[in-house]
Amino acid sequence: MKKPKIVVLGAGYGGIMTTVHLQKKLGTNDAEITLVNKNDYHYETTWLHEVSAGTLHHDRSRFPVKSLINTGKVNFVKDTVMDINTAEKRVILENSELEYDYLVVGLGYESETFGIKGLKEYAFSIANINAARQIREHIDYVFATYNNEPVKRDELLTIVVGGAGFTGIEFVGELANRVPQLCKEFDIPREKVRIICVEAAPTALPGFDPELVEYAVTQLERKGVEFKIGTAIKECTEEGILVEKDDQVEEIKSATVVWAAGVRGSHIIEKAGFENNRCRVKVSNSLLAPGHEDVFIVGDCSFMINPENDRPYPPTAQVAMQQGETCAENIARLIRGEKELKEFKADLKGTVCSLGHDDAIGVVYGRKLFGSSASFMKKVVDNRSLFLQGGVGLVLKKGKFNFF
Ligand code: FAD
Repeated sequence: MKKPKIVVLGAGYGGIMTTVHLQKKLGTNDAEITLVNKNDYHYETTWLHEVSAGTLHHDRSRFPVKSLINTGKVNFVKDTVMDINTAEKRVILENSELEYDYLVVGLGYESETFGIKGLKEYAFSIANINAARQIREHIDYVFATYNNEPVKRDELLTIVVGGAGFTGIEFVGELANRVPQLCKEFDIPREKVRIICVEAAPTALPGFDPELVEYAVTQLERKGVEFKIGTAIKECTEEGILVEKDDQVEEIKSATVVWAAGVRGSHIIEKAGFENNRCRVKVSNSLLAPGHEDVFIVGDCSFMINPENDRPYPPTAQVAMQQGETCAENIARLIRGEKELKEFKADLKGTVCSLGHDDAIGVVYGRKLFGSSASFMKKVVDNRSLFLQGGVGLVLKKGKFNFF
């Protein structure tokens, strides 16, 4: 009998966890499993704010896909997905095509700029590992340029971060730690440097516990971060940004604008014709795309309501990894001819937001944490993610052990 073909797109958290569990659940005679990713490495997206700020080398946050999978059971294809033809059950890659019987889409997120003029052209975004490397290199470059021009331009030392959500706060936390090193390296007085975090909502970290938000803002302000809360970015230009608060428009000149205020799913979702909202597909409880019995969607390309609070699950690595496990179980059931699929139910353990490597805030199992205990917990979470993907070996190789 012909073996069913399973194709997994994306070797991020959702794709890797699906693949790792598929290879455990299915034997080589049960199915042919193929994993496609545009790079031959997986990167820890949740560490990209550190790579962007230059506090973590990019090689620490990535590792070969083949070191995570059993290549005796899974065929790895390094290629870029260009389109999906669900009618013909084919995936169009840049260099070839693949047929599937079951498809898993885990192509992750892209930056969402909400139509704000100039952001796409002039702002950086922590979109992937190469974008993170570019931000780090750019910041080094503008600091190096400052003392090498006849007329000093303060905008070279002004870094604007759009968004005081999770990613924005984690990034400014790392930046605040990196800036003193940069000042020393390039002979720049610390007081010349501005890190400005702009947030349109009436608070930083909307949705987080207010006491923890206050702690985070105070700690970051102590390290020199300026917050502009309730302030909307209206436009980004070559010279900086225009912001608006209470009908007053202000220009902030800056050579470095990093947009960290919104994500959407991969554009491939829209291109392939899935019903979507901002390239995210409202999947069934068993993670199937609407109208499809053979296409599963996991991670940031998916959208699901948490029945416990009637609110959407946040697009997080935690959810993506757990979806990967359920998705693998459901494909294994379909291949075994079972009719009943497993319903996805997230086991949300909590959230920890770092404020640099030495400080953090979080709520874990309902308990509020801040300072060194939260920072310790953040590293435990990071190491656990490595363990789930690649076992003890990966934790020992790439884990974070600088606990204090
Ligand atoms: P990803 O992990 O992003 O993986 C997508 C994969 O698909 C990548 O390997 C990519 O190279 C590949 N790919 C994309 N397009 C193509 C293509 N066309 N062809 C081939 N391959 C392609 N979540 C948490 O739970 N906790 C945190 O602390 C946390 N911190 C974060 C910090 C930052 C700075 C950021 C940016 C996000 C953070 N998140 C966090 C969110 C989390 O990283 C995402 O929700 C998670 O990465 C989504 O997983 P995924 O599998 O959908 O996609």
